[in-house]
Amino acid sequence: MYKAGWMRCHDSHELSGIGMTSQRTRDRMAGRLAEAGITDARVLDVMAREPRHLFLDEALAHRAYEDTSLPIGHGQTLSQPWMVARMSELVVASGARRVLEIGTGSGYQTLVLSRLVEAVWSLERIRVLQNRARMRLARLGVRNVRLRLTDGAHGWPEAAPFDTILLTACASELPVALLSQLSDSGTLIAPLEDADGSQWLTRVVRRGDGYDHQRLERVRFVPLLEGVIR
Ligand code: SAH
Repeated sequence: MYKAGWMRCHDSHELSGIGMTSQRTRDRMAGRLAEAGITDARVLDVMAREPRHLFLDEALAHRAYEDTSLPIGHGQTLSQPWMVARMSELVVASGARRVLEIGTGSGYQTLVLSRLVEAVWSLERIRVLQNRARMRLARLGVRNVRLRLTDGAHGWPEAAPFDTILLTACASELPVALLSQLSDSGTLIAPLEDADGSQWLTRVVRRGDGYDHQRLERVRFVPLLEGVIR
């Protein structure tokens, strides 16, 4: 009896957060994001509420609310909070209801999006990462996210068109399939690499068969890679 009670208590502490993973720590993070120029109140609210530390290995959880990207295994990283906030803000500004994400990774960006839009389809090429993300999202009761293991360059044709497509890995050229899965006046947000190797967060808006490109800011992402790792 005692053990079961302790387990429950431990579990709820973990979800509500203690110490370095407490609500106060998250509120401070949201405050820093606002100071750094994030203006969307819903994005700030979601990030102040949701447990980023549950998307990292236990050994790194105490660093979850630092302004830094962190390793999630297989050479991949969970983006720093500012980047997640900025991309979420751009997704909200695009007026999205149905969003396709390329690069589920830890699932944290997926979680934040799921609280801001109607439904999220998220693709990942590494099975181990996808499995962990699936468990975390299920545990948090997220029901409006669908995950698929595939090379994200193919997109998710059966669920297209999407209002917004978000890449969380950097491409040098945008996969044609992704552009074709945008709804008319839909928006794609992606880090894109220049010939000189610099990466720029880029917003592409579909206008019929044409696409308007707009460069936003310099960023640093892991590369978009080909194939699936089972
Ligand atoms: N949004 C993630 C960031 C993960 S880093 C998070 O919040 O944790 C980028 C992710 O993109 C990695 O998990 C990587 O495996 C994945 N990725 C890279 N190329 C891909 C591709 N072609 N298709 C699907 N996922 C890809």
